[in-house]
Amino acid sequence: MLREIEQMKEASRSSVSPLEFIILIIDGFLVLFIAVATLSAASRLSDAAIERQLKIQTNIADVMSDEINHAFQAMDLVLIGITDHLKAREVNDQVSLIAETTSQSAFETLRARMSGLAFLDALTITDETGRVLASTRRWPAPEAYFGDRPYFKAMQSMIGPPTYLSQPIIGRIAGRPNLVLSHRMTSDDGHFLGVVNAASDQGYFANRLARVDVGKGSLIAFILEDGTVLAQSPALVLDKASEANPPRHDAGALLALPAAGGLVPADILGDTERYAAIRRLPSYPAAIVISVAARTVNEEIRRTIFPLAIASLLVCAGILLVTGLWIRQLRRDRKQSALQYRQARTDVLTGLANRLYFVEWLEALDRTGSVSPYALYFADLDYFKTINDTLGHDVGDKLLAAVAERLVEHLGPTDRIARLGGDEFAIICMGVMDEINALRIAEIIVSAIRKPFQIEGHQLNISTSIGISLCPRDGHDLVTLLKCADLALFKAKADGRGLTRVFSEELASAMETRRELQADLEEAWKLGQFYLAYQPIYEAAGRRLAGFEALLRWKHPTRGMVPPDVFIPVAEETGLINRLGAWVLERACAEAMTWPAPLFVSINLSPVQFRAGAIEAQVHRALRLSGLPNERLELEITESTLLQKEGGVQAALGNLRASRINIALDDFGTGYSSLRYLIDFQIDRIKVDRYFVEGVADKSSSQAIIQAILALASTLGLQCTAEGIETEEQAEILGNGGCSHLQGYLLGRPVTPEQAQTLALATERRVEAG
Ligand code: C2E
Ligand code: CA
Ligand code: CA
Repeated sequence: MLREIEQMKEASRSSVSPLEFIILIIDGFLVLFIAVATLSAASRLSDAAIERQLKIQTNIADVMSDEINHAFQAMDLVLIGITDHLKAREVNDQVSLIAETTSQSAFETLRARMSGLAFLDALTITDETGRVLASTRRWPAPEAYFGDRPYFKAMQSMIGPPTYLSQPIIGRIAGRPNLVLSHRMTSDDGHFLGVVNAASDQGYFANRLARVDVGKGSLIAFILEDGTVLAQSPALVLDKASEANPPRHDAGALLALPAAGGLVPADILGDTERYAAIRRLPSYPAAIVISVAARTVNEEIRRTIFPLAIASLLVCAGILLVTGLWIRQLRRDRKQSALQYRQARTDVLTGLANRLYFVEWLEALDRTGSVSPYALYFADLDYFKTINDTLGHDVGDKLLAAVAERLVEHLGPTDRIARLGGDEFAIICMGVMDEINALRIAEIIVSAIRKPFQIEGHQLNISTSIGISLCPRDGHDLVTLLKCADLALFKAKADGRGLTRVFSEELASAMETRRELQADLEEAWKLGQFYLAYQPIYEAAGRRLAGFEALLRWKHPTRGMVPPDVFIPVAEETGLINRLGAWVLERACAEAMTWPAPLFVSINLSPVQFRAGAIEAQVHRALRLSGLPNERLELEITESTLLQKEGGVQAALGNLRASRINIALDDFGTGYSSLRYLIDFQIDRIKVDRYFVEGVADKSSSQAIIQAILALASTLGLQCTAEGIETEEQAEILGNGGCSHLQGYLLGRPVTPEQAQTLALATERRVEAG
């Protein structure tokens, strides 16, 4: 029913508002920024941690390589000391070599050379075949042979430098793993004489390396340039079995590392990835490798980065939480305002759009330039107030809701309906261009409402009056169209109930005239422009004056005489008739008092006066103030008075008749003329309308009706007055036909009160004279 509202409700549920969108974008950027900043900080931290770690490792490698280099240099010096000594003793052949090295004093000298060098395990001198001549381990030298040792073969070959650092070997005398530095001995003329070597304890170096700690999973190695491990921490086992093929690392990859160290993949240094720094010994073909498991460094990095990551996560979560709450609040506000918007535009009782929303629709249509035509309907329920007053507001409210529901059922999908307030509904039907179509739809509405409603056990029959204006025919703008439809509705109500009126220029000017008349009437009442005329009523038999009918007159200064047929309906609309009617009663009764008895005065009453409910009181007040006897007063009512259900007409008439006031039914034969009224409502007289009297001389139909009426009147014992007698013929026919009284221009026009009085007094004199 409220399609826009439904759509809006839908929209408020699902879509993201521009503000929310901006918030979400900013949010996204913030989170992204924090993520990027965190990642970059983490990467910098990690780089720094790696750099720091490698720096430590390279520093240690520097120190270690220097220290071990020094140790080997010391051994080198000892070896050089021995060869220099043998040279000085002019040892140039095997014989002199044996003589100079195998004696006990030579042994003592040799041992003395070892003192102070803790890492030096033993000094050994061999001959040109590799047979041991002297050893610091004992004297005389043990039977041992080194000729098969690689270092010996290298020395013997006379290729390469005179000093040779061998891969680790198991000592043949002490049986321990040794690192052996050998020196070649040559004669003055360059012949190979033998080898002097210094065996150092591998364990010594392994211990030195073991003292270095660069973190969990560190691997410190002392290697030859071909990768052969000389010593290592954690230590490697070297035994007879592995002697020929000692453990080695991939020297190529390690020596290719930059000076600052770097990451080496798994299987280069053990089976895990490692951060390694390598330093060559300045004087020997060996190097120190300081390495740590990459996982240790990574763990350290993770530990550094973890708080940072947590902090960023918390910040992000905080941002998301705050914006989440913010957006929720925004949504709530939006929902709230959508609800308020909806409530402000919905009629609670019927669920239809209300006046505000309706006006907004029209404004929107107006704004679009209104290319598409439409019809605007104002529908107003007839006598709704009566239902409300008699059956209660609860029933009234339910009826309104039921009416709304029925209207909605009968309207098309593009039509719009609103309740403007009270019992007034407005409908917009799009695409209606002309009056014919507009009226067709109005007919649908009228017949929909005409079907009875069942409300709380009551069957309610109501009708609706409809006013229509057409866009663009009657105007484009909201104000004009509303005014036109309102005017048309006003006309529909004025013309009777259950009617439809389409706006037109004539209607507008008629309404304008009516409005002016309304204003003028009110003015006339204040200025006392009203007076009464009296038309004589005669007895049919003998044409004797029986009384006068009081007829209201209005003389307007510029309009002139305004006929009561014109101004009385307007006075009825405005309600002025109540004040005016009371005045007529008092005035006519007072003036009738100036006539001799039994002349009566007949006074016209409007149905509206009965609706106000004060008619009895007004009549009695007029009689009391004037002193006119009740039986000299006659009240003329019309069928429409009898038709109206409100105001307790029947009771009022019953009471008036009971107090001997005559009741006449005016204009008989023009309305519904239900003869039932004559029986149901006890009346004293009927006044046959001028229309029948007019046709009575030449229209057989009028004659037939008049005969029937008169027959009925005599059966019911009613008196009968024929109105509008203009010819003698009419007077004859009706008089003979059974009318008790005659009234009309033939017998007397309405006259001034003075003239009426004169006429009344003259009649009395004639009667007295007669
Ligand atoms: P009505 O009650 O039927 O009054 C008779 C009308 O017929 C009067 O018109 C009268 O002047 C006119 N008339 C009388 N004899 C003849 C005739 O031979 N030929 C013709 N052509 N007309 C004749 P008027 O005075 O213009 O009143 C018109 C109507 O205004 C009345 O019709 C009555 O319904 C209403 N009216 C007049 N005065 C009052 C009043 O005080 N109160 C109320 N509620 N209605 C009044
Ligand atoms: Ca009358
Ligand atoms: Ca009449």
